[in-house]
Amino acid sequence: MSSSKVTGSFQLMKSLNRSLILNTIRQYEQISRADIAKKTKLTPPTVTNIVGELIEVGLVKESEVGESRGGRKPILLTIDPNHSFIIGLDVGGLLVRAVLTDLNANIKTQKTVDLPNELDNESLLMSLTKVIEEIIAEGSVPPDKLLGIGVGMHGIVNHIKGVSVFAPNFKLTDIPIKAHLEHRFQLPTFVENDARALALGEAWFGNGRELDNVICINVGVGIGAGIILNHELFHGQNGIAGEFGHMIVDLNGEKCTCGSYGCLQTIAGGGMLRKRALKEIELGRKTKLTEKMGTNLDKVTGALIHQCALEGDELSAQILEETGRYLGIGVTNLINLFNPTRVIIGGGVSKAGDFVIEPLREVVKQRALTPKARETDIVVSKLGEYGTVIGAVTLVLKDIFSPNLKSR
Ligand SMILES: [Zn+2]
Repeated sequence: MSSSKVTGSFQLMKSLNRSLILNTIRQYEQISRADIAKKTKLTPPTVTNIVGELIEVGLVKESEVGESRGGRKPILLTIDPNHSFIIGLDVGGLLVRAVLTDLNANIKTQKTVDLPNELDNESLLMSLTKVIEEIIAEGSVPPDKLLGIGVGMHGIVNHIKGVSVFAPNFKLTDIPIKAHLEHRFQLPTFVENDARALALGEAWFGNGRELDNVICINVGVGIGAGIILNHELFHGQNGIAGEFGHMIVDLNGEKCTCGSYGCLQTIAGGGMLRKRALKEIELGRKTKLTEKMGTNLDKVTGALIHQCALEGDELSAQILEETGRYLGIGVTNLINLFNPTRVIIGGGVSKAGDFVIEPLREVVKQRALTPKARETDIVVSKLGEYGTVIGAVTLVLKDIFSPNLKSR
C-alpha cells in the first residue's frame, strides 16, 4: 500500500488469522466461538484471543444466545456494521455515483453528481475529490471511522496500480486515481473496472452469492463483463479480461469505438437501440415512438423504447428482442468458453427485463454446447443501478475480510 498512514482498525484487520475469523463471522452472520474454531481450524484459545481483540475495538459484538445442544447456550458473535464506514464511487461517462456504507454495504448517504463536459485528468480527479468530501461531510462520520475508498471506473483499469489506463467516455489516459485519493484522504483506495466491480458486488451481496464461477455482464452504452472463477475476479495478464463488448461477432461488421470492426458492442450496445429505432422511423414504420418523440429525436432513448414496448408497441418490442438475441450469441460464446454456474445481466439495457432476457435465454437454450450448458442460469442483476457502486465498496471489504495473499 502506498498510503503513508493507515487507520488503526484497518491495520488490526490485516492479520491473516483475524481476517479469517472476521470473514467467518461475516459469512455466517451469527456464530459461536466454538463453531469459528471448527470452521477455521484455528485452536479455541487463538479464536478466543482474537475475538477478544475484535470485541475490544468494537468490530465484533456478542449477540443473543444461540440454540443449546445440551449444556450452556453458546453466545453468538456478529459483526457490528456501524464500527466503520466505507466510501464507494461509480465513475460513469456522464456522472459519478457516490455512497457511504456500513460494513454490511448498507447505504447511509448517497450522492450523484454530473461531470463537466470537458475533462482532463486533473479536473476529473478534482471532481472525485469533491464528491468524496461532500459525502463525508453529509454522512458526518468521524475520520477515524472511515476504512477506505473503492472506485468502479469505466474503461481499462490497472487495478494493481489503481490507474485508469484508458477512459473511452472521457478520452483520457493514465489517470492516477489511487495515488491521488490516497494522498488526499490518507485512506487505502482500490480501483477496478466497473463491470468487474459489479461482478464482485453481485458475488458478495447480489445474485452471485456462494457461487464459485459467475459471469456478470454490464450492458450499457458499452458492454463489459466481470468474470469470477473459483471465487476470484479474473483479470488476465494486462487487465483486459472481460472486455466482452469487443468480442468480434461479425467479420464484416461496423466500425467500433475500439478501432476494430463487428464487435458485439456495435450490434448489441445500448446506443444501438436508439439507432435502430430511428432507422425504422425514417423508413416510415408505424410506432408509438413517433407520437411520444414529437419532433424531438433526442427523446428516443432505451427507456422510452422500453416504455413503448410495455404499452404494446410492436417495433419497440422487436428492437429489444433483437438486442436480446444478439446478446444471447455473445453469452453463448462466454458459456462455451468459461462454463459458469450463472450469468448475471446488469446495466441500463437489463432494465428492459424479459423483453431482452427471454430472447437471450432462448438463444442460449438453442445454441450452447451441451444440454447442461444450455440450462445455464441467466438472471438479472439484484443490485440494479447500485451494482457497480456496491461493488466498489466490496473492493475495500474484500481486502479486509478475505485478502488475497498474491495481491500484497
Ligand atoms: Zn470494439
